[in-house]
Amino acid sequence: MNQGILFVVSGPSGSGKTTLTRRVIEVLDNVRFSVSFTTREPRPGEVDGVDYRFVSREEFEEMIKENMFAEWAIVHGHFYGTPIYEIERARSCGVDLILDIDIQGAKSIKERYGSGVYIFVTPSSFEALRERLLKRKGEGMAEIEKRLENAKREMEEICSYDYIIINDRLDEAVDNLVSVIRAERCRKERAINLLKDFKDKLCYD
Ligand code: ADP
Ligand code: 5GP
Repeated sequence: MNQGILFVVSGPSGSGKTTLTRRVIEVLDNVRFSVSFTTREPRPGEVDGVDYRFVSREEFEEMIKENMFAEWAIVHGHFYGTPIYEIERARSCGVDLILDIDIQGAKSIKERYGSGVYIFVTPSSFEALRERLLKRKGEGMAEIEKRLENAKREMEEICSYDYIIINDRLDEAVDNLVSVIRAERCRKERAINLLKDFKDKLCYD
């Protein structure tokens, strides 16, 4: 059975990962969003269980002890982690999974699972990041400055990703991300497994 593809999406805070991944899930079938655990405070409008599972630091540390995370990391001073059950559930249903996780998390997933498609999202200018973080009003100025400072370090990792989505015009970026997912689904290694009636005629090189 098709195992489902892991799409790992990273990029600086404010680059548009949440906006893009939400839009892509509306457009495509057979793909879901991995809901992470975090110790950060919810932003206005964020819903527990939909955007994140918001937990205390003590609860998060208990989950680490119980080996419940496929990966976890401290990002901008808060704990974030992908629960193993998100990956197992998607795999057992053959559904593709989008993980919006930071660079440390992406490296851990690559080491642990080997496979996956790694996608970096960024606007073409640093100024756009600043404007978007200010407009989002999710964090205070000190937190925004921390995120912008971290963005410079995060950009240095861009070459370890398979795809770069430049999110200047949102519609174009959504189209490009949808195209990456569709193209990855058509890769011969994956699509060949779906040709159930022609198995004996296929070359497997
Ligand atoms: P991230 O999840 O990467 O931190 P968000 O998806 O929360 O980023 O986007 C940050 C802010 O920028 C949000 O207010 C969002 O509406 C806005 N935004 C996202 N993409 C664009 C774009 N292409 N042009 C202008 N604003 C954008
Ligand atoms: P935010 O607080 O803006 O929602 O997310 C901050 C950063 O944490 C982003 O880079 C986001 O990709 C990352 N992040 C969200 N969930 C996870 C997770 O489960 N694991 C890791 N490693 N990073 C995460």
